[in-house]
Amino acid sequence: MQENNTLPITINKAETSRLDQVDFENLTFGNVFTDHMLTCDFVDGKWQTPVIKPYGPLTISPGARVFHYGQAIFEGMKAYRDEQDDVWLFRPEENFLRFNKSSKRLAIPELPRDVFFEGLLTLLRMDKNWVPKGYGNTLYIRPFVFGDQVGVSAAPSGTYKFMILLCPVKAYYAGDVKVLIAENYSRAANGGVGAAKAAGNYGAQFYPTSLAKEKGFDQIIWTDDCSHQYLEEAGTMNVFFRINDTLITAPTSDRILDGVTRKSVLALAEREGISTEVRKITVSELLEAAKNKSLKEIFGAGTAAVISPVSGFGYKDDFFELPSQEDSFAKRMKKSLLDIQYNISKDPFNWTL
Ligand code: PMP
Repeated sequence: MQENNTLPITINKAETSRLDQVDFENLTFGNVFTDHMLTCDFVDGKWQTPVIKPYGPLTISPGARVFHYGQAIFEGMKAYRDEQDDVWLFRPEENFLRFNKSSKRLAIPELPRDVFFEGLLTLLRMDKNWVPKGYGNTLYIRPFVFGDQVGVSAAPSGTYKFMILLCPVKAYYAGDVKVLIAENYSRAANGGVGAAKAAGNYGAQFYPTSLAKEKGFDQIIWTDDCSHQYLEEAGTMNVFFRINDTLITAPTSDRILDGVTRKSVLALAEREGISTEVRKITVSELLEAAKNKSLKEIFGAGTAAVISPVSGFGYKDDFFELPSQEDSFAKRMKKSLLDIQYNISKDPFNWTL
């Protein structure tokens, strides 16, 4: 976690820390925030000096465009504390590039590299004691940006606010999840914003996901918006299918987020001699593989849960249970990833910072 500090940042330190009021054993994901937050405004056509100040409410006009037209995007990344008490980031460059890719798609001005990195590293140094100890526990990092110009005409905002919040979180394990293959609803469309981390993508998933939950499922496997035949993502994760001993995931596209965990799993699997295929996979191929028992595993991959194994999936009125695996690819991939993130095994890819 080192970068030279050359960017001016205005710092307003919290008078007292809230750290000792936090029950680290009982954290729920994303509800507790550290002492400080970063804000940086885009005004008069340029990004201003970033400010780090105590975490707290903002004053925003109800006429701010974000409330009316949804110009908002975000990222999700983590900081990890190793056994020697050093703190690490995992592939943060990927998050920075994706942040700007998402911004561009939503007509939000791109953020300079130094505001993202020096802002983040300065904030992390100030709240370093909030990075929890323990394998799997992390400090979740939430950079986001939204249009805050007042006006309800449907036009891009002329001003924006970039922010970073930090949340200590416990190792996340939801157990094995049941997923329902989408037949009618879609999360993304060709030419749309599925490849961006646009806030509205997530708001739009809640309703179909709540319907799936009523039927006893935890998440939806999203299919393409035209034919609902291609398997694309699982909830807010990329999705992997193991057929025999090959790990298959869909290629990224307009509709599929280019996940950091997904590309890391592909690289690690190849390095560990697991055969991988990046190709389209259809519902009928999956049903056939489930019936002839060549389907061994399905798992989701994403920053929050790391790897989320699937115990079974529903399609129309049928439910298919997956066999339990002693030495599953899901477990192997999770361990390989975490061992690099916690500086336990050597990082052969230079992913950590
Ligand atoms: N797909 C979607 C829709 C997501 O929101 C996420 C979480 N960012 C992912 C996939 C996984 O991406 P990552 O591994 O970069 O967290």
